[in-house]
Amino acid sequence: MRIRRRVRQDPGRDLSPAASAADIAAVRAAIVAARGAGDDVPIGAVVLSPDGTPLASARNAREELGDPTAHAEILALRAASEIYGDGWRLEGCTLAVTLEPCTMCAGALVMARVSKLVFGAWEPKTGAVGSLWDVVRDRRLSHRAEVVGGVLQAECAALLEDFFHGQRGNRTG
Ligand SMILES: [Zn+2]
Repeated sequence: MRIRRRVRQDPGRDLSPAASAADIAAVRAAIVAARGAGDDVPIGAVVLSPDGTPLASARNAREELGDPTAHAEILALRAASEIYGDGWRLEGCTLAVTLEPCTMCAGALVMARVSKLVFGAWEPKTGAVGSLWDVVRDRRLSHRAEVVGGVLQAECAALLEDFFHGQRGNRTG
């Protein structure tokens, strides 16, 4: 329980190892993917193969597609599994996203057997990788991804702040 209390105060300090140059580059690619989201909250995601080759990128398209599951992570995982491997498994792959994933996306990356998650800003309201829950590293799961959070946090948070400043009344869940 001591750990849980610390997580709430400062998840970044306690749960994440230092970001590598590759982690930073991956989040930077996710930031690029987030741009141009129109009415959608600008959240971007990329999937990298085990050797670091970008397989797919996507931005949140919930409004555009009228689909509650069209989060950036889900769209990027779907696109990556179409071109990588022999089915749905993304073993050895990295998912990079600008915002701490929600429960749905954290669950999806575990189901896809993604090996590493790198994300930008912490999401204290809905985050499921250390903030509210830790779906990805639950000890009861046989597959647990490595996690690096808080990478380029200020830049990733600024994407969202700029969007909400420009779009008063448009709320995210
Ligand atoms: Zn999500």
